[in-house]
Amino acid sequence: MDEQHRRDLIIIGAGLNGLTAGTAYLLGCEGRKNRVLLIEKNAVCGGYVASYARQGWLFETCQMTSDISDILRYLGIGLEMKEFGPDFIRLFVADTAAGRTDAMFFPSGASDFEEMLRRMFPSDAENIKRFFDYSGKMYREIDSLKYAPGFADTLRMLSTCPRVIANASKTFAAYAQRFGLERSGCMEVFQIFSSLCGLPNGAIAALLTVGVMFSLFDRAYRPAGLFTDLPHRLRERYLSLGGELLFHSEVSEIITGGGAVCGVRLANGGYYTAESVVSTADVKSSLGVLLGAENDSPLKTAYRRRVGRIRMTPSAFTVNIGLTGDPPGIEPLRCGYAVLASGPGAFRSLFAGFEKGECLLSENLFHIGISCPPKREGRKPVLSLQAVPMPAHDWITLRAADYAAYREKKENTASLIIDIVRRYLLPELSAYIGVLDIATPATYARYSGSPTGSIYDMACVPDNFGRRRLPVKTPVEGLYIPKFAHGVFGSMNSGMQVADMLLDGRIMHGNSRLGGRE
Ligand SMILES: Cc1cc2nc3c(=O)[nH]c(=O)nc-3n(C[C@H](O)[C@H](O)[C@H](O)COP(=O)(O)OP(=O)(O)OC[C@H]3O[C@@H](n4cnc5c(N)ncnc54)[C@H](O)[C@@H]3O)c2cc1C
Repeated sequence: MDEQHRRDLIIIGAGLNGLTAGTAYLLGCEGRKNRVLLIEKNAVCGGYVASYARQGWLFETCQMTSDISDILRYLGIGLEMKEFGPDFIRLFVADTAAGRTDAMFFPSGASDFEEMLRRMFPSDAENIKRFFDYSGKMYREIDSLKYAPGFADTLRMLSTCPRVIANASKTFAAYAQRFGLERSGCMEVFQIFSSLCGLPNGAIAALLTVGVMFSLFDRAYRPAGLFTDLPHRLRERYLSLGGELLFHSEVSEIITGGGAVCGVRLANGGYYTAESVVSTADVKSSLGVLLGAENDSPLKTAYRRRVGRIRMTPSAFTVNIGLTGDPPGIEPLRCGYAVLASGPGAFRSLFAGFEKGECLLSENLFHIGISCPPKREGRKPVLSLQAVPMPAHDWITLRAADYAAYREKKENTASLIIDIVRRYLLPELSAYIGVLDIATPATYARYSGSPTGSIYDMACVPDNFGRRRLPVKTPVEGLYIPKFAHGVFGSMNSGMQVADMLLDGRIMHGNSRLGGRE
């Protein structure tokens, strides 16, 4: 292997995770070895943070993030972020029998949110108070967590993070039980935060729902311009620090030898060598495909089985609508995130179908995330309707086997989703449709390279969360998979963590967050 192809660090994937890891690493190197190569299979950076134009309308995948200002400041990126208004989360519950919809607007700020829930569910008011008191304290403990705690850290965490440790192996539903809330109507409200991670209350790790909820209470943001300004700024900063970036370059193999990583091979036959490789591609793809299957893999059988058992989050079906104007009733949907659900338990029932590989979406059973970005001068209005959770397998196989049937199923599913939204929220929607762009789970699978089209990579279930999560450091020396968390903040934070790991704690001192407590 020659010098021309040698790098110090190779990063697979120029999504937020890879871009953050590369930039943070270069900043932290301070003159140490620093030939960093980012390799991206697509023609643009950003991964799941994408935007695309259709006949004059511009659509974006992402809509909202918690506060990323600390990370942006550390990376030296000045990006204007706009804060969402005070009631940025809204839930619309459809009564499918009566054809009626109840709207609930939730205020930001933990105490206002708690107050509202106490008013909505007066018989649970005391329990809701206990839940918020305890959860607020548990959320603040996250600042004291280490991302890869050793024995001494774990002992210290018993006193600094007692609530996190006590609840680490609980689902959110089991956690709610300790406050007597398991049967309360407020569980449907909490489900909004769990569904932002693709899981029902009964499957998700408690700390995740609490973490997402409290981080959004602190405030929710989006870039003042396009969401894709974020990856583009990251790319510019990364390149300005001397990083290299290859587009249109798919990694087909992670090369190993003697139990250590040696480099990567590209689908076009090229190769690069390095002692450290960070893969931000889907974990099943990184460890199950790129490292070689079965006997070719350097992973021990037990570890390979563990990877095989990992549950991935569901995929989604998204209908993006370019609007010719504002349909009556759209204004309440212009917020951070809105959900239209067919009554209590809708997400749980749909998820049960997902686990069996079945899509149970129907006119009587639905959970639809709605993004309606703020109006902007010179930009035509758009609306995105995202049905979750959605299994990917049938979509992927149908697309490969019978493209015409795939298109028909795709159009029928889009019509069903539009009909549901018409019935309960926007009766005149059809008259305002200028263009439709539909993304199925097969679209997500192709674009991201995730074999399951998962929106959030590994599912954060107690069996694969915290200390039980597949660690960032793999058994292959020098190979890292920083997919500990998802979402805009989570993936950027994961990129920061892996850079910290590569630089022996120089950036974050092993803390799980920048600015975390020692
Ligand atoms: C429709 C949608 C809406 C979302 N909305 C929000 C939101 O509003 N707020 C929020 O916080 N989060 C949201 N998310 C989640 C968030 O976008 C992701 O969690 C986050 O962007 C993941 O970043 P990542 O870099 O870890 O992975 P990815 O974005 O998946 O990036 C991985 C990159 O690796 C590349 N890659 C894969 N395999 C290879 C290979 N073999 N060779 C080379 N390159 C490869 C891929 O092309 C991709 O660019 C949304 C996700 C989706 C799909």
